[in-house]
Amino acid sequence: MKISMAPRPTEEQIQEVRRKLLSAGYSVHRMDREGETLLCALGPADFPEEAIRRLPGVTEITKITKSFKLASRQFCASDTHVAVGDVVVGGREVILMAGPCAVEGEDQVNRIAEGVAQAGAKVMRGGAFKPRSSPYSFQGLGVEGLKILRKAADTFGLKVVSEVMDISHLEPACRYVDILQVGARNVQNFTLLNALSLLDKPVLLKRGPATTIEELLNSAEYIMAGGNYKVILCERGIRTFNTYTRNTLDLSAVPVLKELTHLPVIIDPSHAVGIRKMVAPMARASIAAGADGLILEVHHDPDSALCDGQQSLTLDQFRVLTVECARIALVLGRTLGPEGGLDTKKAGP
Ligand code: PEP
Ligand code: MN
Repeated sequence: MKISMAPRPTEEQIQEVRRKLLSAGYSVHRMDREGETLLCALGPADFPEEAIRRLPGVTEITKITKSFKLASRQFCASDTHVAVGDVVVGGREVILMAGPCAVEGEDQVNRIAEGVAQAGAKVMRGGAFKPRSSPYSFQGLGVEGLKILRKAADTFGLKVVSEVMDISHLEPACRYVDILQVGARNVQNFTLLNALSLLDKPVLLKRGPATTIEELLNSAEYIMAGGNYKVILCERGIRTFNTYTRNTLDLSAVPVLKELTHLPVIIDPSHAVGIRKMVAPMARASIAAGADGLILEVHHDPDSALCDGQQSLTLDQFRVLTVECARIALVLGRTLGPEGGLDTKKAGP
């Protein structure tokens, strides 16, 4: 149930509603939005509607019909802004996250961090714990990789996003990472999602190759149900009968998710298509479709990358792409790039 309060309710009014709901056996979630307080009560079916409606400050009680309650637009009509320090995902600015598939070493990460930061990325990506299809492939540098990422990101003024595959990764990742990434393979690892729900860290939740939109939103709900509302959704391609590209980018996931949820939505065109020259067109299309950001694989020397070099952009390609994306963002009344706005006039034809 959604309990709407009058504009700027007193703390006492909110606490009274909360107490009543808790004593009736409900768990209570609270979101504060620009002068608006939303309460969501989750629990038994026989909701004491009349008793709650009579409480001071309560204006409306609405049933949330979706299975994902806290993640739904029914609960919260306005967009969620996930703040990562001074970087905000889900606001007017389109956020670029870029970096190698895997952290390979200090020199590699530094070169890429410098390049993507100059081009306008706000967040550095890089896998330290790598979910590889083959156990014989490079599995990542682990905690050492996280340290390398943190140092490079701090040097070039970037935030860090990196994948956690297991609960045991959370402790070191919380020390070195700003956004914890849940990979496509773990989108329904409910034990991991429950553990993430107890943290005060933004989570980048990737859709799996065979995950429906509803399943993705229910996975987001797992994280939110424990009290962590900082969830960023990511479409990264789904498996279809088409085998030409690595996956099929479900671009319609952007408007669909925007209708169903208030959470930010970003796109990973790199894993979606898996072919370097096709990444930029899908990246541009993603911005045009209304994505709040992109996460892209970029490497200073993709042909010698230890992982996913075939889909990694060069630094030059990334620079060109950021300018193109900034232009598209502008058309949509959004900004992108350093200080929130690339100077697109300087960027050639
Ligand atoms: C990644 O982003 O490093 C990754 C492994 O992607 P996905 O989980 O989408 O396959
Ligand atoms: Mn990859």
